[in-house]
Amino acid sequence: MGCSAAYWLSKEGHKVLLLEKEAVAFGASGMASAHWLTVDRDTYAALEDGRLAELAWRGCRLHRELARVLPDESGIDVGYREHPAIRLAFCAEEAASLKLRPSPGPDDPPIHWLEGEALREVEPRVNRDALGGLVCRQAQVMAYRFVLALVQAAERRGMALRHGEAVGLQRSGGRVTGVQLRNGEVVATGTVVLAMGPWSRRAAEWVGLKIPVYPVRGQLLELQVPDPQLRASLSYGGNYLLPKADGSTQAGTTYEPDSGFNNHHTSAGLEAIMNAALQMAPSLENAQLVNHVSGLRPACEDALPLIGPIPGWQGAYMVAGHDRKGIGLSLISTRIIADLITGGHSPIPIEMFDPGRFGPTE
Ligand SMILES: Cc1cc2nc3c(=O)[nH]c(=O)nc-3n(C[C@H](O)[C@H](O)[C@H](O)COP(=O)(O)OP(=O)(O)OC[C@H]3O[C@@H](n4cnc5c(N)ncnc54)[C@H](O)[C@@H]3O)c2cc1C
Repeated sequence: MGCSAAYWLSKEGHKVLLLEKEAVAFGASGMASAHWLTVDRDTYAALEDGRLAELAWRGCRLHRELARVLPDESGIDVGYREHPAIRLAFCAEEAASLKLRPSPGPDDPPIHWLEGEALREVEPRVNRDALGGLVCRQAQVMAYRFVLALVQAAERRGMALRHGEAVGLQRSGGRVTGVQLRNGEVVATGTVVLAMGPWSRRAAEWVGLKIPVYPVRGQLLELQVPDPQLRASLSYGGNYLLPKADGSTQAGTTYEPDSGFNNHHTSAGLEAIMNAALQMAPSLENAQLVNHVSGLRPACEDALPLIGPIPGWQGAYMVAGHDRKGIGLSLISTRIIADLITGGHSPIPIEMFDPGRFGPTE
């Protein structure tokens, strides 16, 4: 979020300093599987959280547009690709709920329920025990490359990147005037965007507002699948198999809301992800396990992100709490922040994402 906010703002000619306490892409943004649906708003609303449909749809379009320019702007291939995505059903109840999905309009990407050989034509590795699958379109990037590309492009436009930890904000007459660093220094500024991922809650004491964002650990496996590579991504429940642009396959994931800031990957996570992967595509039993990683998603109590101005702190903004969808939504959420800073208004209604909605701290 911080890197894409910096990208948009430096593109618009603002003088930007990106402050990072560890390293760029250190958080979940460097680990994410980084895929999202490219469907119409109604289908998105039926398949995912309907409250995010507009944001997600616009976010997809921005990713597609940026994929055309970001490699030239940064010198980095972000691995953007679009491909079929299959949501599998293994029992009648699951099949019935997937078949109920709405039909898209004539200009929208196609979406089909397929079974048997027709389904295996889309992806030959699908388990023969699956009753069928809902086939739609998906897009993805290589998360780490994507974040680096945003930073590189912003740096080429004059953004400064600096190592340091923010520990507080300063204000005068209701307007933000600076960011305090752990080393005692104060960076003077009239505008600040807090994009602190799962650490966002720490800003509650700075601004006097409740910010109920918490870390949710997610684990991922990188597999090397013997040829042929998957043509489509597969998903079942919260698990998925995702063929990446570099020839690897990502298998995910766990969703561990009690993890706290413990970011270790575990043998239980490995077993759960592999079991789900083999249920979706049994022929992956010979895949090589290349890597096992984990990251902390920034989840919010009401399952909605926080995007917008921080009440009582003129010039201060927050973009946080995107949980499982922070790469897909990164460009639109930070586009909103850039529009607020540059033009004073958001391209879409953002009341439900108000960072002040949880009220003041006691
Ligand atoms: C296993 C896994 C799979 C995922 N798959 C997908 C997916 O397929 N699609 C998708 O869209 N999303 C996915 N996500 C979610 C996505 O990764 C996150 O929503 C997104 O990366 C969050 O970005 P962020 O910038 O808010 O937080 P982060 O990436 O955590 O970045 C926050 C940054 O702020 C820095 N920071 C914090 N506090 C301070 C401070 N006080 N001073 C200075 N710096 C500070 C941190 O060091 C960190 O670098 C996945 C996540 C995981 C873990």
